[in-house]
Amino acid sequence: MHYDIIIIGAGSMGMAAGYYLAKSGKNTLLLDAFDPPHTEGSHHGETRIIRYAYGEGEKYVPLLLQSKKLWAELEKEWGQTLFTKTGVLTLGPKDSTFVQNVISSAKTYDLPLTVMTAKEVNEKWKGISIDEHLTGCFEPTSGVLHSERCIEAYRKLAEEEGATLLPYRKVINLIVSEERVTVETDNETFTSKSLIVSGGAYSNELLSMLHLDLPLQPIRKTFAWFNSDEEIYNEREFPAFGFETEEGMYYGFPSINRAGLKVGRHDTGHPVDPNNPLKEFSTYKEDEQDLTSFLKQFIVQEPSLKYGKTCMYTMTPDEDFIVDSHPNYPNVAIAAGFSGHGFKFSSAIGKALSELVTKGETEQDLSLFSLERFEKKKLV
Ligand SMILES: Cc1cc2nc3c(=O)[nH]c(=O)nc-3n(C[C@H](O)[C@H](O)[C@H](O)COP(=O)(O)OP(=O)(O)OC[C@H]3O[C@@H](n4cnc5c(N)ncnc54)[C@H](O)[C@@H]3O)c2cc1C
Repeated sequence: MHYDIIIIGAGSMGMAAGYYLAKSGKNTLLLDAFDPPHTEGSHHGETRIIRYAYGEGEKYVPLLLQSKKLWAELEKEWGQTLFTKTGVLTLGPKDSTFVQNVISSAKTYDLPLTVMTAKEVNEKWKGISIDEHLTGCFEPTSGVLHSERCIEAYRKLAEEEGATLLPYRKVINLIVSEERVTVETDNETFTSKSLIVSGGAYSNELLSMLHLDLPLQPIRKTFAWFNSDEEIYNEREFPAFGFETEEGMYYGFPSINRAGLKVGRHDTGHPVDPNNPLKEFSTYKEDEQDLTSFLKQFIVQEPSLKYGKTCMYTMTPDEDFIVDSHPNYPNVAIAAGFSGHGFKFSSAIGKALSELVTKGETEQDLSLFSLERFEKKKLV
């Protein structure tokens, strides 16, 4: 079968791109190795934080505001909750770069943000206890995206617009020219004019089929839900949070619909080959220990684990993304290396990808995410 566009990897980025392409009338095929949303990539675990005053740098804010607008449009069209406005609290030392970036983002882009002393934080949220040298930045407009529901919404709406999604189709070979793309799975061959490659943690394998060698490192990540006092930690009272401690960077979610308090550690993890099964939660002592010692120090005195899960980040060396056209094939766009903070952007990145492969350009400034910044790039 021949299509206008084929998308390889219908996860966070690919599914969003498929929605925008189908909506613009393009004959679109999405291929995925699993049946998205699923638990074999980077998008499961129910929730992802979205915040706009951005600790990773204010250069991200325009794309965040575009993402916010597009999530709201999607939620309206879908008719069910995709975003819960819990507010997000950033905690850390006053002089930390992350905290300073949050404050400067809010100033530059006039975003609502309350900068609080430790005393004010401890008074406002009974479930938090921090020392004097720490500061809190509360952004009331931010919150939580229900990640699997978002992907499901994009999928159903794309299919309603005529897109074809074929699950359990692992792409094993690609033949590309500027005019035509041939995509092979185990038993089938598809062709198209253009291609989007958005393979998440599996990107190295797919990009090598396009003669690209990028410094992408898949990492095993763990996160867990803990039993919590619902009066204190429910989603109406307690915010989502990011917390830079002396040990590392942690994040967490209130107990949404009584699911329990969810926490994870952002800054560590074991490098993995995504084709091997991930070692399950609790395989390593630190899987649970890291989280319980963090909770004990700042949140709950006696944390009691409900259950934990594993997932994958795909890191770039500078932790900025790769979203770009292929240097040799303008009909091929690539989205990879979302370094553990990409989900919130998938609405805007999906739209930008759809524009790159149809118009050859996008109004969104993607210069931060250029492929060329990596010296290791090797074009054959
Ligand atoms: C524990 C955890 C917590 C996170 N927290 C946040 C957060 O709070 N906020 C935030 O913004 N981001 C967060 N992230 C990051 C965010 O979830 C990821 O950046 C994002 O999901 C990456 O999207 P993706 O499209 O690259 O990958 P995925 O969503 O995994 O999609 C890739 C898809 O490609 C498919 N695929 C791969 N290879 C092939 C092939 N050969 N053939 C066919 N299909 C293929 C896969 O099956 C998969 O469906 C978190 C990630 C994790 C793991």
